[in-house]
Amino acid sequence: MARETTRKNGAEHQVAMVFDLNKCIGCQTCSVACKVLWTREEGTDYHWWCTVNTQPGRGHPRDYEAMGGGYRDGVVQPGRRPTRQEWGGGWDFNYDEVLYGGKGQSVFLHHVGEEPHWGPNWDEDQGAGEYPNAYYFYLPRLCNHCTKPACLEACPRGAMYKREQDGIVLRDESRCRGYQFCLEACPYKKVYFNFLRNVSQQCIGCFPRLEQSVAPACVRQCPGRAIWFGMMDDEESPVSKLVRKWQVALPLHPEYGTEPNIFYIPPIGPARLNDDGSFNETTPRIPIEYLETLFGPKVGTSLDTLQAAMAKTREGGKSELMDTLIAYHWKDMFKPFDRDPAEIQWK
Ligand code: SF4
Repeated sequence: MARETTRKNGAEHQVAMVFDLNKCIGCQTCSVACKVLWTREEGTDYHWWCTVNTQPGRGHPRDYEAMGGGYRDGVVQPGRRPTRQEWGGGWDFNYDEVLYGGKGQSVFLHHVGEEPHWGPNWDEDQGAGEYPNAYYFYLPRLCNHCTKPACLEACPRGAMYKREQDGIVLRDESRCRGYQFCLEACPYKKVYFNFLRNVSQQCIGCFPRLEQSVAPACVRQCPGRAIWFGMMDDEESPVSKLVRKWQVALPLHPEYGTEPNIFYIPPIGPARLNDDGSFNETTPRIPIEYLETLFGPKVGTSLDTLQAAMAKTREGGKSELMDTLIAYHWKDMFKPFDRDPAEIQWK
């Protein structure tokens, strides 16, 4: 995506996103909003820059958390590239036969070619645990527009840069030679390769929308009011308050060392049931130890803060944190990027 802007490994301002995993319903509206807007060109059929996967689960690409990348002792690590099979998706279907074959209802839609073995959210709703205390939740993921982007560090072509005005990580495709070192170094495996055009591609933070004060498509389309978006350096923005003031929103895999700017409010989960069917109030159904493997050691503190705010409002008290999480006024979730995209003459 070539566009004239400042090229430097640093940003004066930084946009951020917060996903409330207690509100995400796994509907994939964010994934589809991104897909139809940005990845319809040739070679991007298997690209899902935003994905929502069931946790616990193997993720997308499959087992990406074991592929390496990120930083160790301040040094960027190469990691490995996922195979095309580990990505999955981008399948062909017998559309011609069904739609134009003249065979009426004697044919039905099915994939053609190689048998699929993986894809985005392949292990949907499997989760973990035993009945009646089985559990799962959804985890939306996209490029984290990291403060220390391993992808950028690894690119020998200087094709990648962080925009000064908002910290979005972009690449100049005219400089990309398709080495895929960015993909190897990204520990989140949120870089996709376009095999037809021989360039790497990833979420562009909907920067043309931001330049028109319109929130990213994934944020604006979320029907669950589960995503906040704004400038981290604006102390009044909900993202800043959720991350810095109340410290309830946490980065995914902080140990990777890239300082991601996508944050998550961990799931409280339903109450655990005792053998007699009564509620177990002392042990959470989703193990804290599991959540810590995803969001680091501050999970317990975050959940305690959330529970305290809930208890306070149950007793009739006021909580700005709870009001923010409920999001009574939808557009407050992404101010000042609250302009209606339908008002704009897009070029
Ligand atoms: Fe780069 Fe990966 Fe971080 Fe995105 S998530 S900025 S691709 S290291």
